[in-house]
Amino acid sequence: MAPSAERPLMSSPAAPPTIVISHLATGPTPPTAANATWPNVLHTRVPDLVGQMGAPPWSKRLIADERQLVTLIASPPGGGNRPHWHRDFDEWWVVLAGRLQWELTGGIVVTAAKDDLVWVVPRGTVHHIQNVGDETSLRLAVAMPPAAHYFSPCEQCGYTDDGPLEWRA
Ligand SMILES: [Zn+2]
Repeated sequence: MAPSAERPLMSSPAAPPTIVISHLATGPTPPTAANATWPNVLHTRVPDLVGQMGAPPWSKRLIADERQLVTLIASPPGGGNRPHWHRDFDEWWVVLAGRLQWELTGGIVVTAAKDDLVWVVPRGTVHHIQNVGDETSLRLAVAMPPAAHYFSPCEQCGYTDDGPLEWRA
């Protein structure tokens, strides 16, 4: 199969992704798969990680397996993502610091702050996320592999650029 970058974009629907679970537990097992560094560390203290990462913007993949991709993302005031949508999964977040705004397809705008859980992005909904507060924002993003991203301009803000139309994150 051709690499995904060479596939025609959105002209023909891609086949639904399939998930291969190649490693199966056969019974109670200690957490020997835990890594010494991310992803898949047994115990992550968010303040320690934030101290290691330094000034935003940055992102760190914390958990990755066949079914989930969990990423901690820090943005400076005014910072955010490239607006995009997903074909095959619904995405959700927990805001751990600051104040963030989600601009969504259909003119919907959601603002969320520390300790808020946001499930506003079913598959197909374009989401443009911005730090609208005056401190660094932290959000824990929960996505599902292979996590293909499809760029789309932001309806509300008109955000557009000449970056890639499709990427994986
Ligand atoms: Zn997304």
